[in-house]
Amino acid sequence: MERTVIIDALKRTDYGQKICVKGWVRSRRGNKNVSFIALNDGSTIKNIQIVADAAKFSDEELKPITTGSCICCVGTLVESQGAGQTSEIQADTLEVYGTADPEQYPLQKKGLSMEYLRTIAHLRPRTNTFGAVLRIRHNMAMAIHSYFHQHGYFYFHTPLITASDCEGAGQMFQVTTKNLYNLKYDEEGHIDYSDDFFGKQASLTVSGQLEGELGAMALGKIYTFGPTFRAENSNTPRHLAEFWMIEPEIAFMDKQEMMDLEEDDLKYCVRWALDNCMDDLEFLNQFVDKGLIDRLKSVIDTEFVRLPYTEGIEILQEAIRNGKKFEFPCEWGDDLSSEHERYLVEEHFKKPVIMTDYPREIKAFYMKLNEGGKTVQGTDVLFPQIGEIIGGSVREESYDKLMNEIEVRQIPMKDMWWYLDTRRFGSAPHAGFGLGFERLMLFVTGMQNIRDVIPFPRTPKTAEF
Ligand code: ATP
Ligand code: MN
Repeated sequence: MERTVIIDALKRTDYGQKICVKGWVRSRRGNKNVSFIALNDGSTIKNIQIVADAAKFSDEELKPITTGSCICCVGTLVESQGAGQTSEIQADTLEVYGTADPEQYPLQKKGLSMEYLRTIAHLRPRTNTFGAVLRIRHNMAMAIHSYFHQHGYFYFHTPLITASDCEGAGQMFQVTTKNLYNLKYDEEGHIDYSDDFFGKQASLTVSGQLEGELGAMALGKIYTFGPTFRAENSNTPRHLAEFWMIEPEIAFMDKQEMMDLEEDDLKYCVRWALDNCMDDLEFLNQFVDKGLIDRLKSVIDTEFVRLPYTEGIEILQEAIRNGKKFEFPCEWGDDLSSEHERYLVEEHFKKPVIMTDYPREIKAFYMKLNEGGKTVQGTDVLFPQIGEIIGGSVREESYDKLMNEIEVRQIPMKDMWWYLDTRRFGSAPHAGFGLGFERLMLFVTGMQNIRDVIPFPRTPKTAEF
């Protein structure tokens, strides 16, 4: 008999009809006369209840149906008597596909800690929390593609392996086929890469931006959405060594339009979650973060604050004068740390902030200089609970100004002639941003640690599964 997925089974009202469901047992309880099996197949956070009458099933048959086992049930769809359920199944046959020894199956108990679940990341998708998170993750990816597609952007695939090391966004992982047990060095102690796979030193990308800019100079509006890799040794709840990033790049876009785009895109994704993931959000709101749904709703209803860095520093210093204590300094010219960002967002404005016009020294070489040359047209979005969720900017389109920045900063541009060519041939004003997909996920799920919004996190000293 054809299988009905549980999300559909729960919606059916053709009571009396035969139905077949398959999934993993969340629990079995009952008494001498009857067993109640809660079955989940991942299609929804909700379980369907299977009622197995002792008259039909022997103890022997029911014994292997324990938490975690996988079964197929054929039976009759009936209207549920229990509160909070619509339909349930009166079982005719129960087939066990795979048992899960109760002595050994790690997901017996409820309320396991997030830390413990990370050590069984191969099984944690079967928990309610991770099921919810992973369904929402899928939805957020769909929301991103839908948003950009609807707005006339082209999905432009930038490479994951790169031979340029100038971006400076983070430490890079090397890619090589060289025998690391038998490396040869020249007189200066350098490794000769000419016989390496790419004939030169290569790494995993830290950002698709530079190639994205090439796309924007031809297709007008593009976005990339793929994995990025940073070997930064920052063991924080908001950094991964392998994370996914959305990077639109748009020709003829100015700072104002860039901020509008950042705000609109984020709101679209949050609205998508509220429209499409309510069952999962309600679960997370109840068990993970009581303020989640209110916070999501408030974000789509409020206008983001637009705050020049210089004004932000003034607000922070005023707070310090009024007795606020920060761990790190925040004089004009300092890079804000997340305590500063969170003070502005969570305590001062109580809404998302787009911070603009940062000191040139703390931002990347490609950002467009403001008049006077002290600040650049960066447009970072700071979110409650998260801190920086987007890093964006208008790009410097002038060849001379860009070259000057590269020389002053002594950026290695040896292999970057192709990037500079964008400014030599038909250069255009343009802008773009990078949205950390897992930072968005943190916000939308209310989860506390970035390791818990990606199936298999990669962090320093962790690459299991
Ligand atoms: P941060 O200051 O938080 O380390 P960044 O300024 O180094 O971030 P960008 O280079 O601007 O980050 O990258 C763009 C976006 O990618 C960030 O706004 C953030 O959302 C995300 N991001 C950056 N680094 C990481 C990381 N290690 N893990 C997960 N997401 C990240
Ligand atoms: Mn940034």
